[in-house]
Amino acid sequence: MKIGIDIGGSHIAIAIVKRETIIEKIEYPYDIEFRKQIRENIIKYLKDRISDILKEYKIEKIGISLAGYIKENTLLVSPNLPELEGINFADILSSEFSIPVNVNIDSLCAGKAEKKYGCLKSYENGVFLVIGTGIGAVSFHGNNMYVNEYGHMVIKRDGKLCRCGKKGCFETYGSMKILKENTKSISGITDNSGETIRAYLRQNKEKPEISEIINQYVDDFCMGLSNIIDINSPNVIGFGGSFSYYEDILLDRIRNKLNNEILFIDKKRMPDFVMGKFRNDAGMIGATLF
Ligand SMILES: [Zn+2]
Repeated sequence: MKIGIDIGGSHIAIAIVKRETIIEKIEYPYDIEFRKQIRENIIKYLKDRISDILKEYKIEKIGISLAGYIKENTLLVSPNLPELEGINFADILSSEFSIPVNVNIDSLCAGKAEKKYGCLKSYENGVFLVIGTGIGAVSFHGNNMYVNEYGHMVIKRDGKLCRCGKKGCFETYGSMKILKENTKSISGITDNSGETIRAYLRQNKEKPEISEIINQYVDDFCMGLSNIIDINSPNVIGFGGSFSYYEDILLDRIRNKLNNEILFIDKKRMPDFVMGKFRNDAGMIGATLF
């Protein structure tokens, strides 16, 4: 059995994983107190939870999934949690517990889980997009998988400022964060839960102002997606992250737009679109596969 850990911008999730199955999962959303000394608190939280798990299970390996630029298990750049930059969770945890620990980029972890056990299993080449607060991306050919920065491909010159410093990046128009923010601004919803936003969109999607928000999102999203199709000619594009919970609201509109407008060079190259099997658990499962 292995432990898969996903350290996100707003919460930590820890799972006991057997092959692709999650046996048990603990999730902890950061509160204001926790955030004040987040680096120390995350280390303490992980050590405490892992100690608890080791009392019950025999664990052969620990895998950690993190957003950012990672080299040899060290998190060098973290757009979500800059307080963690320079940290090497593998050194900290393997010396504490004498168990091998790997740290990898979240999109690569999620892509691995979907390629080995999930929605990409039967495809020879493709792209997997992890769409949540930002947009992570990997592409694969056979069993080789590469991290791509499609989230920071510019789709609007002099567009919105991105957290990377550039303007008009795909993720400033195509992330779930932007769809949520736009929905909140028009609906008056104050709660940030994806479930509330989705319920509102489903109930009100025929209203002109809501339909306009969804269509604007789909227009911008398809601009980025069509570039990815032209660059890769993928057999499949998989969608993970919180985007996968919006399938019924978004996917047909995306297909229609790509089918009915000239957005990429060859319609015969239209890839299959599939939703991630493991949704937000893919990072934890995939973290254990390195
Ligand atoms: Zn950017």
